Amino acid sequence: MTPVVEKIGAAVDQWVAANQAALSATRRHLHAHPELGYAEFETTSFLEERLRHHGLTPRRLPTGTGLTVDVGAGGGPVVVLRADIDALPLNDLKEVPYASTREGLAHACGHDVHTTVVLGVAVALASLDGLPGTVRCVFQPAEETVPGGATEVVASGVLDGASRAFALHCDPSIPAGTIGLRTGPITAACDRMDVTLTGPGGHTARPQLTVDLVDALGRLITDVPGLLSRQVDPRTGMSLVWGAVNAGVAANAIPQRGQLRGTVRVLDREAWKGAEELMRSLVTRVAAATGAEVDVDYIRGVPPVVNDPRAVALMRSAALETVGSDHVVLSAQSMGGEDFGWFADVMPIALARLGTHGGGAPLDLHRGTFDVDERALGVGVRLLARTALHALEADAEPQHSGPPAPPRTRRPAPGDTSSRPSVEETHRR
Ligand SMILES: [Zn+2]
Ligand SMILES: [Zn+2]
Repeated sequence: MTPVVEKIGAAVDQWVAANQAALSATRRHLHAHPELGYAEFETTSFLEERLRHHGLTPRRLPTGTGLTVDVGAGGGPVVVLRADIDALPLNDLKEVPYASTREGLAHACGHDVHTTVVLGVAVALASLDGLPGTVRCVFQPAEETVPGGATEVVASGVLDGASRAFALHCDPSIPAGTIGLRTGPITAACDRMDVTLTGPGGHTARPQLTVDLVDALGRLITDVPGLLSRQVDPRTGMSLVWGAVNAGVAANAIPQRGQLRGTVRVLDREAWKGAEELMRSLVTRVAAATGAEVDVDYIRGVPPVVNDPRAVALMRSAALETVGSDHVVLSAQSMGGEDFGWFADVMPIALARLGTHGGGAPLDLHRGTFDVDERALGVGVRLLARTALHALEADAEPQHSGPPAPPRTRRPAPGDTSSRPSVEETHRR
């Protein structure tokens, strides 16, 4: 630990010890007032007011919700801490004083915790002198949508000039006071594919005179996943699983139209890039043998979050100082999606798992019963503050400056939301 990390890190520890109740109050306020993706107006105003109150100058994102704020005296390296601020369209089933006050809306993915943690880091660091660079806190909208509010953050340019980005996500499978880390992929990509087959229809007595659409659907159902397993490296974990099949009504009539819907999940980012082309080609090849007309609607979701080894190493130093080696665990790769993966288009990233289980029955994300042990809030603040300090120190040292940031590979025009599906259509996981 360098003297700067030691000194400012200890000051953050003191800040957390003195502000535990305030952190809980913030989290409970957010928890009671959830808002859906791109509609987080009250949440954004709340954050704006709190940041201004502590002498900071937040700027709204071009999307209208979400904001970014720079902490530090200016100059030096810039590192990003990212929180997501949106909630889910489901009922809060908990009987607690801070339960959601809004019918059909709940912070069931812990984004209230992520927001409280990054706000806490911003306020804590703003009260301290000697920060060796700039900590850019990004409060991002609409994580729970496809392709996710992270795409708007990347497109808006607010990440320009930063060297690395860090985030955390609640993990109810590990106890509060524990931090999960993993180098490489930590979440999965999940795309959606809808296949529509059409044909002339006809009598089941004479399939030779038409296209047997139900038979064609059956071939696609079994042959496409089967062929896929022989066309991709099994280690990429690419899988196609159908979730819906619909065609026909009468026992003796061949229908004119049938539809399949399924999800494509991929653990590997490179393989994900080629997934759409591969799926379209497999479906087209199998359908061609049947004579049916085929239309494929492929909806790309989010890429896997692939944790950069160096960024994880910085986070590990912070985690060891925060909770000690007995409480830093290896995190498993999740099949869930997380739009923070888009940040990796422009810089190295690392996402940590923040243990939130406080004992009692097992809890899971995206359920109305989800709650956290609020001791995790202080752990999160200390972890991300120290991570930022380590990263600033590393990026200030010439011997660790490393190669320049990778070139941008994906940057849609700012404000280009023309292809953004609605929250209802896109809610996932
Ligand atoms: Zn979620
Ligand atoms: Zn989440």
